[in-house]
Amino acid sequence: MDDEIKGEGNSINYKFRMHDPRVGRFLSLDPLSKSFPWNSPYVFGENRVIDGIELEGLEYVFASDGKLIGKFGKSPKIKVASQDDLDQYRNGLLEPHELALCTQDINTASDEVKSNIYTTIYSKEVRRKSDKYKLEGGFVGVGAANDKIPPAQAYKSAEAQTVIFKESNSAAISVWSSNNNNYWDVASTLNHEHGHAYFELDKKERTTASQYETLVYWHEIDSGIFDKASESSQLNTRHKFLQYLSNLAHDLGSSKQQARDANLFVKYKTLYEAKFDIELNVYSGAATFSVYDPTISKRKKELEEENTNVEN
Ligand SMILES: [Zn+2]
Repeated sequence: MDDEIKGEGNSINYKFRMHDPRVGRFLSLDPLSKSFPWNSPYVFGENRVIDGIELEGLEYVFASDGKLIGKFGKSPKIKVASQDDLDQYRNGLLEPHELALCTQDINTASDEVKSNIYTTIYSKEVRRKSDKYKLEGGFVGVGAANDKIPPAQAYKSAEAQTVIFKESNSAAISVWSSNNNNYWDVASTLNHEHGHAYFELDKKERTTASQYETLVYWHEIDSGIFDKASESSQLNTRHKFLQYLSNLAHDLGSSKQQARDANLFVKYKTLYEAKFDIELNVYSGAATFSVYDPTISKRKKELEEENTNVEN
């Protein structure tokens, strides 16, 4: 992921083709299996640190086919209602709060149900009318449920990814595995993956891996979706963004893209500082370069402590 991408600034200009007989087209894949630039290094598990209290209320309730039934209460959790309970609800035999109490957490649902729900979230929150690229298969996949995605070892460490099909101007977006049941965290992750498809297919950006992720992470951060995500999810995303911003500056010495790297570095550092009202610390050494937001680790620690207190 980060370390593996570092120093491979030209890796995405260097492609080979792999034929996938199941889809009958060519996939353009990065030959460096560990440095797919579209392989989003999300760790959903970390987002659960503040899942301390189960509020009585109630959440985003979906049918198993992915239809959003309604929002109940103020919690952003994703819940799935059974067909029986939905029938009773529609016949007036269950009140909305009773329906919500019967639901199951999305994490315990099948991959197919997850895929249906993620597709709804992508269509409702992420996809824009102006987007020209197509969503491969018309759905957001979930891990092995999405047979459009090559089962590469490289995906093991990722939680979501996008594979680009240039020939058909489409992108296969999938959540590889997830323990996250927060509606806005999922939407924010899908918005990140959307950014890969958008920059590569609609904008036809030719970039280095560091440039690419810096653009895509900023696309995710600079969005109303991000603003609604859980605080721990936001902190993780900010942290990843700053790692790629650091890589961008680190690449300056070795890459042929100095001018672009330098411009992007200044632009995105300025945008970040304005959005979060913080001055970033910048360290540079002979072999390292890092951009550091001192508020992130402090706040992460506080959240972990709050969570521990809740558990006790
Ligand atoms: Zn990414």
